[in-house]
This record gives sequence, structure tokens and C-alpha cells, in this order.
Amino acid sequence: MEPIIEVRDLSKTYASGTAALSGMDLDIRQGEILALLGPNGAGKTTFISIVCGLVTPSGGSVRVAGHDIVADYRAARSLIGLVPQEISIEMFETVMNTVRFSRGLYGRAPDDAYLERLLRDLSLLDKRDAKLMELSGGMKRRVLIAKALSHGPRVLFLDEPTAGVDVNLRRDTWEVVRRLRDQGVTVILTTHYLEEAEEMADRIGIIDKGRLMLVRDKRDLMHEFGRKRLVIELTEPLAELPAALSTPGLILAADGRQLCYDYDTRADRSGIARLFAGLAAQGIAVRDLETRQSSLEDVFLRLLGEAA
Ligand code: ADP
Repeated sequence: MEPIIEVRDLSKTYASGTAALSGMDLDIRQGEILALLGPNGAGKTTFISIVCGLVTPSGGSVRVAGHDIVADYRAARSLIGLVPQEISIEMFETVMNTVRFSRGLYGRAPDDAYLERLLRDLSLLDKRDAKLMELSGGMKRRVLIAKALSHGPRVLFLDEPTAGVDVNLRRDTWEVVRRLRDQGVTVILTTHYLEEAEEMADRIGIIDKGRLMLVRDKRDLMHEFGRKRLVIELTEPLAELPAALSTPGLILAADGRQLCYDYDTRADRSGIARLFAGLAAQGIAVRDLETRQSSLEDVFLRLLGEAA
């Protein structure tokens, strides 16, 4: 299937001289949820802003369903909905009027039947005549999504959809996004929460310092996240790792006082039981234990090492 969005050699240098995006290539598949994961300042918002026509690229191109976002701006833009980071909504207006207005901004003919279906899908239909100020935080977020979908786009961008919101609200948003995907909307979200990318995405792209470092199916990437390190403090230092203990992922560290074992939590056998049996058989006494989950940084480094 043709990608719905094709990004080629995209770059952006702001007037200040900041290179926010450099040589980005990306194909976004129709109907997928793609999470762009990266630290603050990585270039995620810049990317979204370019695709949505809010920022002019310095080089490269983006096509949305074949329409160039610069040369064919209106056609490209009509296929995209954006839920921005900042919440700015008219508090005294009703839900229905808000989405009607958004649709009008796109020059689309009024279609209350479509908008009511949209509100129903977002569990907002019973609030259609409520003023926004009367809604809960979760409902307000859903109104933002309704606004972004009011003109019937095929692609929805969510910029940091759950930054600073509580866990319940986060789950609520995830649920809504999944339902949209099930209806065929392609969703691209940015996040700096590992958990969010893990929970939501079909694919994850990692952006760092304006570069898209890699894009992978979530399962493949989570395999990396599934690694843990077991640190075993020994009572007596070892001069070297006994050959009988030698196994992939096991090293002797800290002047022989620590054994560090990297293992995959998702594998059928972690190898930990065998390791302890081996220690017992060798008469090696253990003083203390600690396990550490790979941090995002570990994963970055490991993946970047692989990608190099
Ligand atoms: P993210 O969304 O990943 O946090 P941004 O795309 O907002 O990253 O920012 C990428 C880089 O570009 C940062 O260094 C940021 O300071 C810079 N930047 C963003 N917007 C502007 C702007 N309008 N003018 C100048 N620099 C900007």
C-alpha cells in the first residue's frame, strides 16, 4: 500500500540558526499509529508544524496522499487534523458550535450528521449543547480531538497528547486514539513518555537532535526495552570469570566485586536460575543483588550502536 505521508530529506533551520530538523526521511503507513519519541527539543513539534503548514521547511519535501504540502497546500491540509499542544478553546461556546466552527474554517459544507457521529465516537454526544467550561478535563481534550477531526481528515497529528495530564486522562486519550485507528484514521503522536509509545504505537520513531534515528515496529523495539541488568555483588572479589559460568551477557566488573548479567525479560528463559546454580556450584558467595531496567538512554545507545 502507498504510504499516506512521504517525508523526503526534510530539514528546518530556524532564523535563529537552530537546526531543528536535518535530512528526515519517513514513510507513514495508512491506518497505523506512529509514535515519535524523543527528548524535549528533539524536533518533534517542528516536524508536525511543517506537515501541517505552520512552519516552512528549509529543504526537502512532504507529500500527503500524493499532495505536496507546499505546492498543493490546500489539498494536503484538508487531509490532516492537528491536536496542538496548547489547549486554547472558547470556554463559553458549546461543544457542537465549536466543532461546527472548526469545520467551517476548512471551508467544508455544514454537516451536522457527520459532526454528531464524530461526537458520539468521542463519547461527547450527550454534551453537544454543554458549554466547554462545564466539561471535565478529559472531555475538553476530546473536544480538541473532535475539532481536529471536524473536516473529516484521514490523518490525525497529536502533539504531546498527554503531557502533564493524570493517568486516568491519559488512558482515556489512548482509548479514543485506538478507536480512531480502528476506524481507519492514521495517527501520528509525539511523546517523551516511553510508556505512552509502548502502550499506543504500532511503530515507534526515535528523534534526537533533529534527526530521525530509526523507525521500528513496536514489538521489535520493546524487545530492546525488555532487557534488564542483574548486578550481583560478591562477598569476595574474583580474579576472573570462572569458565564454567561463562555465558553471553555476563561480565565481571568493579575490580572483580560485581557480576553484571544482561538478560531479556521476554525470553522464555532468563538464564538467572542457571547462573545462581553455577555460583553455588563454584562456592561463590553473594552479598547483594540489584536489577535495573534498561533506561531510554540505554536503549538509545544500544540501538544507535546497531544502526551505526
Ligand atoms: P520538540 O517538539 O521535540 O520538543 P521542537 O521542534 O519544539 O522540539 O524544537 C526543536 C529545536 O528547535 C529546539 O532547539 C527549539 O529550541 C528550536 N525551535 C523550535 N521552535 C523554534 C522557533 N520558532 N524559532 C527558533 N527555534 C525554535
